[in-house]
Amino acid sequence: FAFKGCQKIRGAQIRVLLEAKDFFLFDCDGVIWHGENAITGAAKVVNALIRRGKNVVFVTNNSTRPRENYVNKFTRLGFTDVMLDQIFSSSYCSALYLRDVVKVRGQVFVIGCEGLRLELLEAGIPCVEEEDDPDATIYNCALAPDVKAVLVGHDDKLTFLKLAKASCYLRDPECLFLATDNDPWHPLSGGRILPGSGSLTAALEVASGRKATVIGKPSRFMFECISSQFSGIDPAQCLMVGDRLETDMLFGSNCGLDTMLTLTGVSQIEEAQEYRSSDLTTNHSYVPDYVVDTIADFLPAFEE
Ligand code: PLP
Ligand code: CA
Repeated sequence: FAFKGCQKIRGAQIRVLLEAKDFFLFDCDGVIWHGENAITGAAKVVNALIRRGKNVVFVTNNSTRPRENYVNKFTRLGFTDVMLDQIFSSSYCSALYLRDVVKVRGQVFVIGCEGLRLELLEAGIPCVEEEDDPDATIYNCALAPDVKAVLVGHDDKLTFLKLAKASCYLRDPECLFLATDNDPWHPLSGGRILPGSGSLTAALEVASGRKATVIGKPSRFMFECISSQFSGIDPAQCLMVGDRLETDMLFGSNCGLDTMLTLTGVSQIEEAQEYRSSDLTTNHSYVPDYVVDTIADFLPAFEE
């Protein structure tokens, strides 16, 4: 399209693009909702795409909830037709990776929330029990003998003991080192932020002298999970819609998908333009093909 290339598109251009694509991948936070609040118009857009027979999936790096919770959240926020098989979270994809790719034998030591453990459990992957002795320290605690992977996700109950145990397990070169995602931080309202799992992974990378394998965006693995569950998916027919250049746009670019940045989240159009004018060609992978203020800009395209 003549209008392709890191610029805002509107009206007829959006209509042409939506007609040309048949598979839509949406990031969640910053595109579909902010925390518990749906982005205005997002539900109408998603419902309209699904009703028009488009394939729609959601690709989130948030590892804290099992997929069932996302179905409930979509319903609660007015997205009427979203089903379990449309949801690809970094926790679900981590479980698939452990089960189907590395076929892990033994236990997984998890740094993460209950939702991550539930996804692993659902896939039949045994996890080391959480420490329940309040007096346990790295000097006196028990270490499990058969830990074959350390998986790091967002953990709002992180303790020094968890980091210390993970560091010990990672001494074994046969123990895999995985991260649900590598997000550095997440925006909260009022200018506050949450450190992301990337920051926890970084601590363990320093302690272990190793590099984690990242499952979530921008790694291609999430698209492989989608491809294995939707047969015949053609990257050229896909549009990846996200709000963060370093995760969503790079993910799309890594997977050969057209990308669209929405300005309702983390990244600004100026940052995209800086990447575009960079002499370093690797920076061009962060540049979106299209930009919209919000996915609500799709709505006029659905009017007859
Ligand atoms: N992980 C956590 C813990 C988060 O809170 C968020 C966003 O709020 C994300 C990841 C990013 O999610 P998404 O990929 O849907 O933007
Ligand atoms: Ca996002």
